[in-house]
Amino acid sequence: GVVDALAMEDHQDVEAGHGVGKLMVEVRAAYKSGRTRTPAWRVEQLNGIVRMLGECEGEILEALFADLGKPAHEAYVAEISLVRSSCKLAIKELKKWMTPVKVSGSVTSFPSSAAVVSEPLGVTLVISAWNFPFLLSVDPMIGAISAGCAMVLKPSEVAPATSALLAKLVPLYLDSSMIRVVEGGVEETTALLEQKWDKIFYTGSAKVGRIVMAAAAKHLTPVTLELGGKCPAYFDRSADLKVGLRRIAQGKWGNNNGQACISPDYILVDESIASELVDALKDIIEKFYGKDPKMSKDLARVVNASHYSRLTNLLDDPRVSSKIVHGGERDESNLYIAPTLVYDVPLETPLMLEEIFGPILPIMKVKNEQEAIDIINERAKPLAAYVFTSKKEVKELMVASISSGGMVVNDTVLHFVNPGLPFGGVGESGMGSYHGKFSFDAFSHKKAVLYRNSLGDVPARYPPFTKKKQSF
Ligand code: NAD
Repeated sequence: GVVDALAMEDHQDVEAGHGVGKLMVEVRAAYKSGRTRTPAWRVEQLNGIVRMLGECEGEILEALFADLGKPAHEAYVAEISLVRSSCKLAIKELKKWMTPVKVSGSVTSFPSSAAVVSEPLGVTLVISAWNFPFLLSVDPMIGAISAGCAMVLKPSEVAPATSALLAKLVPLYLDSSMIRVVEGGVEETTALLEQKWDKIFYTGSAKVGRIVMAAAAKHLTPVTLELGGKCPAYFDRSADLKVGLRRIAQGKWGNNNGQACISPDYILVDESIASELVDALKDIIEKFYGKDPKMSKDLARVVNASHYSRLTNLLDDPRVSSKIVHGGERDESNLYIAPTLVYDVPLETPLMLEEIFGPILPIMKVKNEQEAIDIINERAKPLAAYVFTSKKEVKELMVASISSGGMVVNDTVLHFVNPGLPFGGVGESGMGSYHGKFSFDAFSHKKAVLYRNSLGDVPARYPPFTKKKQSF
């Protein structure tokens, strides 16, 4: 009894983030058993995730509603169903991903064969964000498991219901000797970051991304940083406004009410169609969310009071508040801010300099595509850029001129759901990528292996290097 009680206390201490040193020792010891290297272990864990999704769907949706007021349909599509298809793809492709890739031998090493062998990086840390708190925790987990890594997950404390649910469910469905959840905020994350990891996979802001990378540098730990930024959308004169704007509205307010890393952050529109665009977008907002969007069941809420005041401060800047052309209503008691359009705000306002991450959408007019490119390229490299046009030359020009993590032509956010595309940022929006096989690769080391036998042992290779040998 006493021993059990002490063990329990220890366990709680560890899971609270204080005893992370001990947790590391345990996870490393389990990892050394080599079990994660077998395809059987990996498939068993991935099947565990599929079972968890099936059996706990209701609980997951409830947690997401408690944390973010996330509408059930939206949560199902963006968090549960995406994770399930990610997992199923990994189960189906795992053998192929694990198979060494043969490469041709070279003349200088003749005779030989060569292969690129994927090996697990080892014991890994995944730190996730609050806006898609289930998806952004479990999707990287699928990568870590597929690659054969052990993993500690630190979900976001800003989505406490989902964090607690993950801490409860993961040990029920997965091998808890090697897949652990540590809940907590800055203090616990700081303690985790002091440890030596074989890989850190971080999703969140660039500010904390810098802290993560500095901590990783101490141990030469490789990092994937999935960060954010201001994702622009450009409309030229030839764009199909109705379809394009419906997709903008879905990408913005239909994804956690604008609190998504790939939400369109601002629109740049050819001046000749600017007022037409504003009117059309107002109509779409009304069609989607009704005359009073507060009553809509399809709009998530702002995550907490501090983000609410951050967003209302952006709006209350007189240079912005005088330019509201739609929405602007708010209700602090409900953490509600209406889908809000602001038109033609100065580029040097915080609204146009910081990532908005909420329901406000500035619309700015530009003379032509070159001005749009200049405005985008003057800012930090975005995680995603969206271009709406029917002209081939404009598509080509935008793809060639804008550096961003990803790009979608004539739609928003859908590049996220194509597992054949790497998802990640560049510059200030991050480094590294995941999804599909890229997730497996993010947690793997590509080991170069050259196979030789004792044939072809040429004396010219060895000293003494006589004149005769040198003449070869
Ligand atoms: P955040 O950086 O505040 O928090 C992310 C994680 O870091 C949390 O788990 C948190 O506990 C931890 N953390 C916070 N402060 C820390 C500190 N001082 N030291 C150590 N750890 C700390 O980010 P957030 O508010 O959760 O997320 C919003 C940002 O994330 C936005 O910029 C958004 O664009 C970006 N994001 C990116 C993606 C992507 O896939 N690229 C997805 C979602 C969000």
